[in-house]
Amino acid sequence: MRIGLFFGSFNPIHIGHLIIANYMATQTDLDKIWMVVTPQNPLKNKASLAGDYDRLNLVRRAVDDNDRIQASDIEFGLPKPSYTIDTLTYLQEKHPTYKFTLIMGGDNLATLHKWKNYQQILENYQIYVYQRPDYDLGELPTHPHVHIYQAPLMQISATYIRKCLREGKPIQYLVPDEVLEEIMAGHLYQ
Ligand code: ATP
Repeated sequence: MRIGLFFGSFNPIHIGHLIIANYMATQTDLDKIWMVVTPQNPLKNKASLAGDYDRLNLVRRAVDDNDRIQASDIEFGLPKPSYTIDTLTYLQEKHPTYKFTLIMGGDNLATLHKWKNYQQILENYQIYVYQRPDYDLGELPTHPHVHIYQAPLMQISATYIRKCLREGKPIQYLVPDEVLEEIMAGHLYQ
């Protein structure tokens, strides 16, 4: 089974993330996509970051009806801060028959060389990159494990959604209805 790992703080998850996840789940050879919710760094007090389980719950609600996409809390139990190579190593040990692939935007690929043990990541895992406007892909696209995809893009960010919520502006259509309901019920980001 081929699993695509899409990491993010998902604070909150929005349709920009979901369009990418669904594209990777349906237009590549990946069987399933795991949306890996990254935990809050306990040393950082980021006031705008909703709790780990609130964010996880929002992701769960967003993908509940899709059997190819699921939420993952795998990093909640790993040492913090969690480095991608450590999470990959842990997952590979836990699921030896699965083949894990990283999903990332071109913005992340451009700075991959700054990640912990990035050569090891490149050597041992495939990386599926979706191109984003305004980001030079750097030197890495020629690596045989890096595959570039032209996925549909939505110019939207969680920062923008949180700003709308703070200002009392509607976020309908920017997040799935289930996520909107959950945000309102939990008074998140307001
Ligand atoms: P914030 O605005 O709080 O920084 P974000 O919307 O960028 O959040 P993240 O949780 O940081 O969301 O995103 C997870 C991953 O999804 C990151 O790699 C990010 O680059 C990517 N991403 C974020 N927004 C979009 C989008 N609209 N389209 C495609 N990829 C996105």
